[in-house]
Amino acid sequence: MPVPIYNTITVIGLGLIGSSVIRAAQSQGLAKQITAYDRDQAVRDCAKRIGLGDRVTDTLEEAVADADLVLMAVPVGAMASVAEAIAPALKQGAVIADTGSTKTSVIRDVAPHLPDHCQFLPSHPIAGTEYSGPEAGFATLFKDRYWIIIPDGVDDEAVSAFCQFLEGMGAIVEAMSAEYHDRVLAITSHLPHLIAYTIVGTAFDFEQQIRNDVIRFSASGFRDFTRIAASDPVMWRDVFINNADAVLEMLGRFNEDLTYLQRAIRWKEADKLEDLFSRTRDIRAKIKDIGQLD
Ligand code: NAP
Repeated sequence: MPVPIYNTITVIGLGLIGSSVIRAAQSQGLAKQITAYDRDQAVRDCAKRIGLGDRVTDTLEEAVADADLVLMAVPVGAMASVAEAIAPALKQGAVIADTGSTKTSVIRDVAPHLPDHCQFLPSHPIAGTEYSGPEAGFATLFKDRYWIIIPDGVDDEAVSAFCQFLEGMGAIVEAMSAEYHDRVLAITSHLPHLIAYTIVGTAFDFEQQIRNDVIRFSASGFRDFTRIAASDPVMWRDVFINNADAVLEMLGRFNEDLTYLQRAIRWKEADKLEDLFSRTRDIRAKIKDIGQLD
């Protein structure tokens, strides 16, 4: 069993990610005390009932007052208001981290609010499911999954402790710049979600008869898109609003490639289609090789 990395940690936002961090930290003994907070009374009641953390507080100020590590696991559009609210109550030397899916926007929104006696360590776990809420979390969500950190300007000791904490949950830590993160995630995560939301939305715009058939015959590919398109609407609304530049850049490239395929289909250029489909199959094999396929 690993030794506790922190005396006290506080997790703000008890959805899929926040509750999974608490469960993982509890099961691995990574903190002596874990405090949980969510703005929603029903979520706080649920957290108490299912034993998330050692205590659940009713105010943000109380939640962060003793914390050595504060982890903000709220939608990226809510990060600024949380940072502003906790700032006056933060302990000297506390490390503030987040799990947001966009990084330049979170740094822009959070950093100005935090006092000089604290350090901000932005991060993003590359793990998730289509479920949300405190009961969706589980202790092994981050096992063997990448967890990106943006350690610019944070002292080595604080970075090292946070990395040990993440590794204690089974994550593989990778450092990069916020800009690079946002471009990579735009193509690997944000664009696929946009495409899934679009396909499912388009299908459901059909008239009633087709709609029933969409559901009846969904196993033929559509079902995989519906899983992604079932992801939390508020979280994803915030992601697209806050990573607009990178998403629009990748969407532009995607549209060009789609036009190329459209033309290949029209002119029956079978070799072009087969060539692309073979290359994409290789990519899946590579993801499997590095252990990132469930
Ligand atoms: P979630 O399941 O929807 O949970 C978010 C929780 O935060 C909800 O309980 C929400 O309460 C609460 N909340 C919202 N605003 C708040 C505020 N101002 N103060 C306190 N609590 C607040 O979301 P999630 O999937 O855990 O995602 C959390 C963060 O991690 C997001 O930034 C997301 O981008 C990121 N992330 C998500 C995934 C994923 O696959 N889901 C993966 C990696 C990173 P209400 O219900 O009342 O709004």
